[in-house]
Amino acid sequence: MRNYVIKTLAYNKQVRILFVKNTEMLKKICDNKNMGRLLKIALGKTVSITSLISAILKDNQRISIKVNTSSKNCKIFADADALGNIRGYISDELLKLPLAEANNMSLEQLIGDKGYLQVMKDLGMNSIFTGITEMPYGNIVDDFSYYFKQSEQIPSLFSLNIVLDENNEIISSRGILAQLLPGASIDIIEDIKNIINDNQLLLSNPNSNIAFKEVPNLLFKDVDIMGIHPIQFFCGCSKDIFYPMLYSLNKEELIHSYENNKAIEIVCNVCGKKYSFNKDEIKRII
Ligand SMILES: [Zn+2]
Repeated sequence: MRNYVIKTLAYNKQVRILFVKNTEMLKKICDNKNMGRLLKIALGKTVSITSLISAILKDNQRISIKVNTSSKNCKIFADADALGNIRGYISDELLKLPLAEANNMSLEQLIGDKGYLQVMKDLGMNSIFTGITEMPYGNIVDDFSYYFKQSEQIPSLFSLNIVLDENNEIISSRGILAQLLPGASIDIIEDIKNIINDNQLLLSNPNSNIAFKEVPNLLFKDVDIMGIHPIQFFCGCSKDIFYPMLYSLNKEELIHSYENNKAIEIVCNVCGKKYSFNKDEIKRII
C-alpha cells in the first residue's frame, strides 16, 4: 500500500489523530510541467488535507474542497469519497501564471488577503452541507484548522510536511490531523502541536529508516490504532462527461474536422487522459 491514512485514538480516547502518507499520490497529481514549486505546494497541501478528511467520511459521503485565492478564477480544487478516491487540480488561470512570477511569490501572497475556503460535504440522502470561511493565515494548512473550528465547531489541528527536491519534484509527503472528540480538554491541542513541532525531523525526513507505521507510537503515548484507510488517486472521468464539451466548440471548427475526417481530442485536465471523438460523433453534434 503506497498511500494510506493511519486512524488512531489517543489521549485516553479523547482525540482522533490521523496520519497520512501520500507521496506517490502527490507525485502523480503534481506531475505537470506548468506547475512550479509554489503551485505544487499549494495543490499538494490541499490534496493532503482532503486525503486526511476522506478517512473520516462514512458510506456514501463525499467532500469537495475549493481554495479560492484573491485573484479571480485562480482556484485549487480537491475532492474525495469515503473509499479514499482522491483527486485534485488547479484552475487554468493559475496554471497560466508565468513560472518565474509564481516562483517569486510566497503561498501567503498567492492566497492574498481576500482568499477563502469552500467546503461542500455530500452527506448522502440529498443532504448537502456547505461551509465557507476566510483564510486568515494564507497558508492553507492553518486555514483548514480554523475552518473546522469556525464552521464545524470541532477543535482541529492540521500539520503537513511536503518536501520537494532542488528540481521541484515532490520527494515526501506526510501529514497529521488531530480532532478533539466531544468532552475533551482543549489543552490537548496545544500539547499535540508541541509534540509535532519537536518531531519535525521524523515527519519530514524521507530517508528515515523508521517505517511510517511506527510514527504514531513514536510521537504519542497511549495510541490505539483503529485501522488503515487506503487512499488512491482516481479521476472518475469518462468520454460521456466530455461529449457535451464539443458543443462549446464553434461550428466551423466542427464542420472542418468532419469534412477532413479529423478526430477531435479532448484532454482531461485532472488526470491527463485523452478522449478522441471521431467523424460520426462530431456529426451528431453538427
Ligand atoms: Zn480525468
